[in-house]
Amino acid sequence: MYIESIELKNYRNYNSLALEFDKGTNIFYGDNAQGKTNILEAAYLCSTTKSHRGSKDRELIKFDADEAHIRMFVNKDGISRKIDMHLKKSKPKGIAIDGIPIRKASELFGLLNIVFFSPEDLNIIKNGPGERRRFMDLELCQLDKLYLSNLSSYNHVLNQRNKLLKDIAFQESLKDTLEIWDEQFVQYGREIIETRRRFIDEINGIMEKIHSSITGNREKIELVYEPSVPDENFYQELSKNREKDCRFKQTSVGPHRDDFSVKVNGIDIRRYGSQGQQRTAALSLKLSEIYMVKKVIKDMPVLLLDDVLSELDSNRQNYLLNSISHVQTMITCTGLDDFIDKRFHINKIFKVIDGDVFCPS
Ligand code: ATP
Ligand code: MG
Repeated sequence: MYIESIELKNYRNYNSLALEFDKGTNIFYGDNAQGKTNILEAAYLCSTTKSHRGSKDRELIKFDADEAHIRMFVNKDGISRKIDMHLKKSKPKGIAIDGIPIRKASELFGLLNIVFFSPEDLNIIKNGPGERRRFMDLELCQLDKLYLSNLSSYNHVLNQRNKLLKDIAFQESLKDTLEIWDEQFVQYGREIIETRRRFIDEINGIMEKIHSSITGNREKIELVYEPSVPDENFYQELSKNREKDCRFKQTSVGPHRDDFSVKVNGIDIRRYGSQGQQRTAALSLKLSEIYMVKKVIKDMPVLLLDDVLSELDSNRQNYLLNSISHVQTMITCTGLDDFIDKRFHINKIFKVIDGDVFCPS
């Protein structure tokens, strides 16, 4: 699959922009704060309905405008589809596929699969468990509609349960109703644990080879899933913690507390890894994601690389650029130096200057 073109109106620092992409490697270069990342963000939005930076819709609209529009043509299996996104300041965004409005964001999933790699991905390795859960959820929601539905049901039940725990503090008799929520909580929670376990297993199968190649067989990497509670005794654990949950007015066990550790040669690199080791692990993780997506959708996703080349040493840059030759890629960078003398094939170059894009040829 690939993105044929994109049009932006009043999006971030763009008044009006229309670009056609190449099926291969597209480079966006320019000084800082010119609008390179904004273009990748718009593409990501059309894939997931959300900004990769977690920005709100109103922040995506040009400062002096009330609405913004994104139009994108995506080609999958030789068929071109049109995605329209209409961003409004105080109302939910409108989305249409081939001119027909969709009601649920999930209807968009699968039309365009994107793997987005930015220096912030290092946070998946370095930061707290929330970042790793977000990673699992973002990936799984793009690939598995059942997971998406289980996760949203789970979060709904979790909110209801937490609300009830707060009410119980004022009205003890409500305790009996916990049971009703707990059954559903465990049912959805188990599905999530099971899917996450399979996901980590599959990613391990792919990542081990990639990481071993990048590090010249020096490092063996493994993700170890650490569920907050094993699925077989989820219900017992939840019951055991009921009194505590009532006291603290929040649910203490369940997939919303899951984590995974990243081990290199058996050592947890979140705690003990060097900066370079952590960065390489993030790179392996992202490259594995490409093949994970491919396995599920039987097609290559689009790869967005935001400012990552300058962060990698020349060996890792080579590995990355060599392994993406068969994927449509959008790369942002401040200069073209990284590509000169390296014989990497660039198909299209865009120069970004203050909300305008030029095609030097
Ligand atoms: P860097 O190399 O530093 O990453 P970049 O070219 O990727 O820079 P972007 O993040 O794409 O830069 O764009 C940043 C520019 O967009 C900034 O100048 C910022 O002020 C502007 N900008 C962000 N949001 C809006 C908005 N809603 N309206 C107008 N301009 C905006
Ligand atoms: Mg940027």
